[in-house]
Amino acid sequence: MRVAVVGGGAMGAATSWRLAHRGVDVVCYDRYSPPHSLGSTHGDSRIIRTAYFEGGWYVPLVREAFTLWRELESETGADLLTMTGALMIGEPDSAAVKGALASASTHGLEIEQLDAVELGRRYPGHIVPDGQVAVLDKQAGILNPEAAVAAMLSRTPAVVRNSPVASLSDLVDSFDAVVVAVGPWTPELIDWIPLHVERQVHVWFALDAEAAWLTPERFPVFILQSREFGDVYGIPTLDGRSAKVGRHHEGEFTDPDRIRRTVDETDIDPLRRMAAKYLRGLTGRVTRTLTCMYTNTPDRHFVIDFSPYDRRVVVISACSGHGFKFAPVIGDIAADLVCDGGTRRDISRFSAARFSSSYVPDHHDDRD
Ligand SMILES: Cc1cc2nc3c(=O)[nH]c(=O)nc-3n(C[C@H](O)[C@H](O)[C@H](O)COP(=O)(O)OP(=O)(O)OC[C@H]3O[C@@H](n4cnc5c(N)ncnc54)[C@H](O)[C@@H]3O)c2cc1C
Repeated sequence: MRVAVVGGGAMGAATSWRLAHRGVDVVCYDRYSPPHSLGSTHGDSRIIRTAYFEGGWYVPLVREAFTLWRELESETGADLLTMTGALMIGEPDSAAVKGALASASTHGLEIEQLDAVELGRRYPGHIVPDGQVAVLDKQAGILNPEAAVAAMLSRTPAVVRNSPVASLSDLVDSFDAVVVAVGPWTPELIDWIPLHVERQVHVWFALDAEAAWLTPERFPVFILQSREFGDVYGIPTLDGRSAKVGRHHEGEFTDPDRIRRTVDETDIDPLRRMAAKYLRGLTGRVTRTLTCMYTNTPDRHFVIDFSPYDRRVVVISACSGHGFKFAPVIGDIAADLVCDGGTRRDISRFSAARFSSSYVPDHHDDRD
């Protein structure tokens, strides 16, 4: 069997790796030379967590992803995953706190609930207003996206770089199947999924000389839901000099051709104010910035499906700002669809048809 994978970011690289793993003759095409910093898979770190507040149905997938990330590390010798734990912080009825607790209870996950006093005592990097609580997810940490893409592509025998695919029809004629995994470029090739590309910014602030508590051993990755700043997240220091923070969503809609790549004070100011209010040990002096893109579906869940026009074409749009952690399991699911015509994993929530007006879901519309 010969399969073309279009895109060599997180999803395309993972699909290529999992297809090659099964002995499929796979060719991965990318318009640039991945890993690169022009799409959605760059910036040194991505959060992986298990007590998934976006929906308990993600938990089995993330568990499989952990196994596959470790498998990739042992196949390639790459150092990809650092366990830190994750803190979901907010008011007790916030979506992050309630959703993480619901997932943990359904799936028997190892978590702890911390009140404001305990959170501040245990993690001096956090300044905790009264009334905030946290869920500590023990099965969580940081992945290195660039190293992960490099590792997955190193297991792919044929990678064709700097080769944009202009249309799928030639590939469909020359291969048995085509997997489209082009992230924010998806609307250029596919017009049957409603997608919005959103500009996102990462900012690194210099550490106070004293701030020894912001290391991966002492500062879990965190997601904070706050009324003033929306959803924000942070990563422990990876270089001992700076730490990265970002806002989840809140960005302007854009596309890969016209995205503003320059980061200015309007991007930085809310993050600096957030850090001053909620974090201890960051100076507010910017050491680095970057822009990246989310590719959002209307409900912020993924699309992993056959084309409704041609079952030789599988499309993955697994971003909406939270896809990276799942990349190897999503790549394996795409390989299932291509090789077996279906998958043992429950991907009913990721069907493209859910966006058509006549769609009736065949699952309960609860969080699990
Ligand atoms: C700022 C930011 C923070 C994030 N944080 C997290 C996090 O903490 N945890 C998490 O799980 N997820 C996170 N995500 C989401 C995650 O990073 C994305 O879901 C994931 O990287 C998407 O990968 P992709 O392969 O779909 O897209 P991309 O990485 O954009 O890859 C698409 C590839 O397709 C190529 N391409 C495009 N068009 C063509 C063409 N016509 N022909 C050939 N090649 C083409 C591009 O060059 C590119 O390499 C974050 C995303 C961003 C932007």
